[in-house]
Amino acid sequence: MYKRGKLFVISAPSGAGKTTLCARLLKDMPKLVCSVSMTTRKLRRGEKDGMDYFFTDIRAFKKRIQENYFLEYAKVFGHYYGTPRDFVERNLCQGKNVLLNIDVQGAMQIRKNFRKDSVFIFILPPSIDDLKKRLMLRKTDTEFEIKQRLKVAKRELKQLKFYDHKIINDDINEALSELKSVLIGRQTIKRRVG
Ligand code: 5GP
Repeated sequence: MYKRGKLFVISAPSGAGKTTLCARLLKDMPKLVCSVSMTTRKLRRGEKDGMDYFFTDIRAFKKRIQENYFLEYAKVFGHYYGTPRDFVERNLCQGKNVLLNIDVQGAMQIRKNFRKDSVFIFILPPSIDDLKKRLMLRKTDTEFEIKQRLKVAKRELKQLKFYDHKIINDDINEALSELKSVLIGRQTIKRRVG
């Protein structure tokens, strides 16, 4: 039997650079596995079903909720997102560490139910002004959506106290190395115990 793996829960306001950071992290740490969430939001250009998310409709998502399919789920910016339970459980049992890239509401559910198996990391932009600039630069959101995202970001920042590590992403390389040291410090040494 393997020593059970850990859950690394990463949250960040949209525009804080979490997606890029996680992609680089997974490239540098091939033993870390990333959970692919299910969502009811529409596929964006460049995304692949089953890779970025499992895309589904509201009816099917709600059915899965009833079936206890999700480890956690939340409604974020009007769409449902959830972490499939099976994948996470299977990998943790095999001693692997699993990365969850989820919002604050989902992180709070994990905190409530799996506190001792989890490490909580929050990626911060250098400032709210900087976040606004990044959101405007990426040109994927309307002015209304940017306002919404900033409002949610301010609300999420109030939950910072529930996270074990806070990493400011003002320089991607520095943020990445900080993130790696958090993970290495907490990585379980994979060994057979039975
Ligand atoms: P996006 O649609 O921009 O990819 O993600 C929007 C937000 O949903 C991000 O904050 C992301 O972390 C969050 N999110 C993605 N997957 C999940 C999930 O499975 N559960 C929860 N609670 N949030 C998620």
